[in-house]
Amino acid sequence: MLAVVMHAPGDVRVEEVPEPRIEESTDALVRVVAAGVCGSDLSVLRGLSPLPRPVRSGHEFVGVVEDAGTAVTALRRGDFVLAPFSTSDGACPHCRRGMTMACERGSLFGEFAPDGSVLDGGQAEFVRVPLAGTTLVPLPGTPPDDLVPSLLTLTDVMATGHEAAVHAGVGPGAAVVVVGDGAVGQCAVLACRRLGAERIVVMSRDPRRRRLAREHGATDLVSARGQEGAEEVVDLLDGGSGHVIEAVGTSEAVRQAIGCARPGGRIGYVGLPWGVTLPLWELFGKNLTLGGGGANIRATMPGLLGDVLEGTLRPGAVFDMVHSLADAPEAFHAMDARRCVKALLRH
Ligand SMILES: [Zn+2]
Repeated sequence: MLAVVMHAPGDVRVEEVPEPRIEESTDALVRVVAAGVCGSDLSVLRGLSPLPRPVRSGHEFVGVVEDAGTAVTALRRGDFVLAPFSTSDGACPHCRRGMTMACERGSLFGEFAPDGSVLDGGQAEFVRVPLAGTTLVPLPGTPPDDLVPSLLTLTDVMATGHEAAVHAGVGPGAAVVVVGDGAVGQCAVLACRRLGAERIVVMSRDPRRRRLAREHGATDLVSARGQEGAEEVVDLLDGGSGHVIEAVGTSEAVRQAIGCARPGGRIGYVGLPWGVTLPLWELFGKNLTLGGGGANIRATMPGLLGDVLEGTLRPGAVFDMVHSLADAPEAFHAMDARRCVKALLRH
């Protein structure tokens, strides 16, 4: 079968690899219908994330259950399933508290965890999913084709954007600032609108991304960055925002988020942090609360799924480029060069 294999920084290939098989009774074998390329895949491509050996890439995928081990009772062959970016057992102390990303038995698809563990990724024709019964989320039936992109966002970026909004304390009437115009930032805009935010300021200077943010519900756009951008936001929102979302993960973005916050405000940070040092004195001086981290997709996804199935939440437009699996390297390079917001791989 074909799979995307990340060999080294800058070296991503599509290759023939051995097909996965059921190895444990709790495994399922999923035939992938669509997979996403994520900003964190680009971190691997750029050499920011560790890559001790080549790995089958991809942690955003939806597909159909082809086979399941004897202990998997929650799924049947033919079920259309959504896969969170990591596996979880639903039973350990962290899963029971909704922190499924910290599952004691869980692993990440396609990316090395700090402990060196990794699962074969989802940018492939088939994937083996351990702990399948508690990891995969089955749909009631087979979704229409045009719903697939929106469903695919629930495996990472839409759920992450939602959690960012929750960490930032967004609720009815809130005035929010979103730092970051990538897929997570764009999904965060949808999440804020869904949670009742009244004003949503998006910081972006890219015309296509500004347009998408408007379509998602942004009420104001600020193109200035850094201190200048933050000052503009402070003027716009009469002293700054009580709810800031940081969806980039660079020191510049974090400082910009802090600058946009009003004293006593909350910052939801979900950008993968690369070399960020926190200016704790600034956080202290403004009485800011910082919350965030990696998303607990398995816990968050079901609450968003109903809205996507009903069509009231439509995050699928973040995928503005579609490639076949065989053309995956082109999708990676297009995203890396910001020629698209996010690429979808169809099979
Ligand atoms: Zn667990």
